[in-house]
Amino acid sequence: MHFFMKKLFILALIFLLTIAVSSDKKDNRTLKEAQYYTKLKKNYVRCDLCPNRCVLKNGEIGDCGVRQNVDGKLYSLVYGKPVAIHVDPIEKKPLYHFLPGTKVLSLATVGCNLRCNFCQNWTISQSRPEEIETEYVAAEEIIKLTKEHNCESIAFTYTEPTIFYEYMLDIAKLAKAESLQTVLVTCGYINEKPLRKLAKYIDAANIDLKGYSEDFYQTYTTGNLQPVLNTIKIAAEEEMMIEITNLVIPEANDDPRQIRTMCKWIKQELGKDIPLHFSRFFPNYRLQNKPPTPLETLRNAYEIAKEESLNYVYIGNVGALAEDTFCPNCGKKIIDRSGFQIEEIHLNEGCCEFCGQKIYGKFQEK
Ligand code: SF4
Ligand code: SF4
Repeated sequence: MHFFMKKLFILALIFLLTIAVSSDKKDNRTLKEAQYYTKLKKNYVRCDLCPNRCVLKNGEIGDCGVRQNVDGKLYSLVYGKPVAIHVDPIEKKPLYHFLPGTKVLSLATVGCNLRCNFCQNWTISQSRPEEIETEYVAAEEIIKLTKEHNCESIAFTYTEPTIFYEYMLDIAKLAKAESLQTVLVTCGYINEKPLRKLAKYIDAANIDLKGYSEDFYQTYTTGNLQPVLNTIKIAAEEEMMIEITNLVIPEANDDPRQIRTMCKWIKQELGKDIPLHFSRFFPNYRLQNKPPTPLETLRNAYEIAKEESLNYVYIGNVGALAEDTFCPNCGKKIIDRSGFQIEEIHLNEGCCEFCGQKIYGKFQEK
């Protein structure tokens, strides 16, 4: 392109972008200033929400695709813009020790701060706000919907909720004021300060521990392992009810030694009562060249976790392989599941009905 034409084109583009940003600015409801960022020189900002710590010049958008520097201030581009709202069984999160048999209103916006090449929700996690049309849904409206659908809780899920932090926090605060429960389903890629603030309003979390090596995280997710381990420990310290999910991918994170080290870490840092879900991988997104996880691999992982004395171990995404809960003291079946359905519960005020053993989690009164 001729130099003059090129300059004209760039000027026109800047003009159009300015109009787009300023028209967005008029909608105070959806363009929300971010809570965690640092102003730098020359209108640069650094986002302090997640370990990526993106440094953005004016107009730039962070790695998650939903936080933008506009004139030296950082804004969330997805406040009040859910792309998915569904009513799910709580078992689908998966949470097996948190109000079993209840319904949860689940929501997400577009965006994610990781790029896992096996992502099952990549059509929304890897999209940009302008690629999917959404309606504004106020935090108050989410509470109303939760009650209308007789849900006990609200889950921030499907994509990575960290990236719609401000929206999530407002909904969670309202939920607690209305005595509703709150659930976080997360990859754990969030910095300590925002996590501790959020934790005051979150009751339960399912946190992905996608593998137990830095190499796996860097190759398959674009993230790092250590920040996820930090998040899990902080969530436990803040007294969230935690369950952990490990998606087992053939020849990627299925080395039995790695699985054993992960189980040892869970036992040592969190205790043997933390439920662990091994989940079956199916080819997806950019990881089409691997077969589904063999059932034998999942059974081995289960056996390793039991050998390491973890009390509550499950296998997900496969049907009835290991989906029931057994009392760690007397060994009797205390929660009988069939997929996401609860068939029977033998608990009394959170204790085994047969021997009185306290069971980790939060359960409804009979
Ligand atoms: S939340 Fe988004 S903008 Fe902020 S550091 Fe993480 S990826 Fe970057
Ligand atoms: S963290 Fe979850 S939502 Fe984000 S890319 Fe990975 S699997 Fe997908």
